Amino acid sequence: MKNLTRPNASKAVQLASKTTIIAVAIAVCSIHLVFAATADFGPSNPFFAPSSLPFHAPAFDKIRNEDFQPAIEAGIAQQEGEIQRIAENPDAPTFENTMVAMEKSGQLLDRVMAVFSGITGANTNDTLQKVRTIEAPKLAAHRDFIFLNAKLFARVDTIYKQRATLKLDPESLRLVERYHDDFIHAGASLSEADKNELRKLNEEISSLSTAFSNKLLAATKAGAWVTADKAALAGLPDARIAAAAQAAKARQLEGFVIPLQNTTQQPDGSLLGGRGSRQEIFEHSWNRAERGDANDTRDTIARIAQLRAQKAKLLGYSSFAAWKLEDQMAKTPQAALQFMDALVPAATAKAAREAKDIQDVIDSQKGGFQLRPWDWNYYAEQVRKARYDLDDARVKPYFELNNVLQNGVFYAANQLYGLTFKERRDIPVYQPDVRVFEVFDSNGRHLTLFYCDYFKRDSKNGGAWMSEFVGQARLLGTSPIVYNVANFSKPAEGEPALISFTDVLTMFHEFGHALHGMFSDCEYPTLSGTSTARDFVEFPSQFNEHWALYPSIFAHYAQHYKTGAPMPEELAARIRKAETFNKGYDMTELLAAVELDMQWHFLAPDAPLQNPDEFETQALEKTHLNISYVPPRYRSSYFSHIWQSGYSAGYYAYLWTQMLADDAYQWFVEHGELTRGNGDRFRRMILSRGNTQDLARMYAAWRGAPPNTKPMLKYRGLDESTEK
Ligand SMILES: [Zn+2]
Repeated sequence: MKNLTRPNASKAVQLASKTTIIAVAIAVCSIHLVFAATADFGPSNPFFAPSSLPFHAPAFDKIRNEDFQPAIEAGIAQQEGEIQRIAENPDAPTFENTMVAMEKSGQLLDRVMAVFSGITGANTNDTLQKVRTIEAPKLAAHRDFIFLNAKLFARVDTIYKQRATLKLDPESLRLVERYHDDFIHAGASLSEADKNELRKLNEEISSLSTAFSNKLLAATKAGAWVTADKAALAGLPDARIAAAAQAAKARQLEGFVIPLQNTTQQPDGSLLGGRGSRQEIFEHSWNRAERGDANDTRDTIARIAQLRAQKAKLLGYSSFAAWKLEDQMAKTPQAALQFMDALVPAATAKAAREAKDIQDVIDSQKGGFQLRPWDWNYYAEQVRKARYDLDDARVKPYFELNNVLQNGVFYAANQLYGLTFKERRDIPVYQPDVRVFEVFDSNGRHLTLFYCDYFKRDSKNGGAWMSEFVGQARLLGTSPIVYNVANFSKPAEGEPALISFTDVLTMFHEFGHALHGMFSDCEYPTLSGTSTARDFVEFPSQFNEHWALYPSIFAHYAQHYKTGAPMPEELAARIRKAETFNKGYDMTELLAAVELDMQWHFLAPDAPLQNPDEFETQALEKTHLNISYVPPRYRSSYFSHIWQSGYSAGYYAYLWTQMLADDAYQWFVEHGELTRGNGDRFRRMILSRGNTQDLARMYAAWRGAPPNTKPMLKYRGLDESTEK
């Protein structure tokens, strides 16, 4: 029942520009709907049985839009029947007749949902979107049907209490603990009265989150910057000005409109020469949801924070953050806070040095003013150009997509893990741009199928991600089928696909997730592959990014697409140096957002309703992050990750996994760098283990010590002694 357990793990592992975290919404709904198996689901439906194609590859040549809804509904009904039988089983609960039976349940639903999520993410259409809207609340109710089922929980609880005497192997023991935690987390152990109270709290939180989302959408739209004066746009390229004129027309306004992005800083701020324009746009962004009108979100977020604290108390926790982090690698908010506090001095000191460089530019141009947030990106861009100007037109010919894939991404996996790859043109795909590779292990045996779908199209969500069409589980006899999706520009017919270095990093990143899926060697579907905690799942991917710049790998793929000539060293050196540029600012704005998230969810259950502005200032003061020139990446009043998506008390995970990735790479550096032995050890102890062990212990066993922030400071350019 892979798709239903572990709601905190992101099923589709999303990334990824280095500065975005794509949130995975977690629906909680307390209404239980009863489904009957639908009449229109039978053997002619391609999801009825496991695919008969090689390795159970999805039969994309047979799957039609209309196959999904009946299969999902039949899958829900099937699993409810299975769960009912487990819950009502007259025999005493055993690991076999409860945990293992639950692990075997829901196979039809998993089969169809894996393909459905894949297609609705990468190649959707109106029909599929409608199905998704209809099925989302049914799937949420289905989850509650399982995790709020009192009889089922009683069985789980009995096994949990007997676990020490059951002689279970460690992986099975872990499964018992995970299930127990999931039920407790969902509120299964509460009395009926408390369950009703929980439902009420969930309902109010859910409707306030929706209200927040609607207000913020309207506030962001209304917060757009409007000007009739073309001169105010000086510095923007013509295409951008044309787009601003177009945006004005669409709103039936005269002049130009610059719509707001969701972050505090707005991209045009790096180009606009007029300081007044920059400041106005910044202020529109900063105050978007605090204008005292119908779109003001402050009352809403204060109430959500209060309700979440009350919910945590009901569930037996001291704060919402404590509830949220219990099943994460960090385990406690204190551990996450300590980690962040340790980064603050280095990040803010680096930001201060960057600020000085910027002030020097302002002064050398006789600006006559002190650096403010709206100046940062504009002058940082000048510093960047002067120091490491990276001309895309010069760089891209060395990064031809297929060459990066086969001689870079695949080559690194060959050097580290002995994998080899062969393109399969006989496996059906859902869209002609999709390619399929069969992956062979170092012993020559089939390991997995890898699908890649790199080009942007209208039917695809933005960003880049990895997920699976089939998850690995020995219990079910399944081997993994993994895929990567991205949004690179598609070249004209017959032209090579030349990509930027950021895109190269995205490919390595997503393939890091793919390795985590394809190396999975676990018994139970719930614990396999990337089904880990949010503060662990981005570790293998960020770790794999390190190999993109590793000299022998870089030299193997960074070759001119026409001549095959290696990239000139001077250009390669600029790429390496540019990697640590502006990192003080980036890290500081992220830390400020992370601290806001954590402080809001650290509130005591009996704390009064907070004034968001005062709360925010105090939270930043307390953590030494109230810095005049670096505002938080999101202000509380428009921090949608934490009020409407699943990242509440979880935004730290992005930095936490960066720490793991850099610390892990440092282990390789200390142990002979890129060798098969090192790769195989990492695979054996980390990449193949899914969530089968306590993640902190798993990491420490491999590393020989708990994770350390020092390598992160070094590789992110925050350590003064290693600064380039
Ligand atoms: Zn990722």
